[in-house]
Amino acid sequence: MYTIQSAWEITRPRHNTCLAHEFIWHVGHIPRQAFMLWLTFNQRLQTLDRVQRFMGPSISTTCVLCGEVEESHDHLFLLCRYSSKIWRSLNARAHIHWPNLPWSRLKLWAIGRYRNKRKTKFIILKLLLASAIYDIWYERNRRSFSNQFTPAKKVEEDIFQIIRAHLINGVKVDDLPPTQRLIWEV
Ligand SMILES: [Zn+2]
Repeated sequence: MYTIQSAWEITRPRHNTCLAHEFIWHVGHIPRQAFMLWLTFNQRLQTLDRVQRFMGPSISTTCVLCGEVEESHDHLFLLCRYSSKIWRSLNARAHIHWPNLPWSRLKLWAIGRYRNKRKTKFIILKLLLASAIYDIWYERNRRSFSNQFTPAKKVEEDIFQIIRAHLINGVKVDDLPPTQRLIWEV
């Protein structure tokens, strides 16, 4: 039966998807990172909690970054001891402040607040999120499949330098406040 409630349920996912697109594929996005962010926003990554649902209880779900807790989208990107160290350090260094929310709520908050903000300081904020997600997932795979471990400090520095190089080569920084230009050395 068609009701206002059912109409809302039909249109809601499409509406959220459009809003997420604005946030992910902004004017200064880095394609490989944007795609990863899209996968993460849509809970499409094969985190170990999801793999176990398909493969059964013989699959270990322990997070390879901290070795302490079940790996899920929420845990992997913000709550994990290893990831949160990178996330906190990067944001402190860039003078960016995010609310203390789990990943599933933070992404909705970020989309609602920043999706259509086009100033360079907001592009940096979006790049920071996408870069952190990309590099944390990359490090997770490197540990899982190549048995190679990178310290959190090194991953943090790599993320910082990738964003800095992108600002120098691909983003107009004319509107960036002097304090931010100093931070990013652009
Ligand atoms: Zn962990």
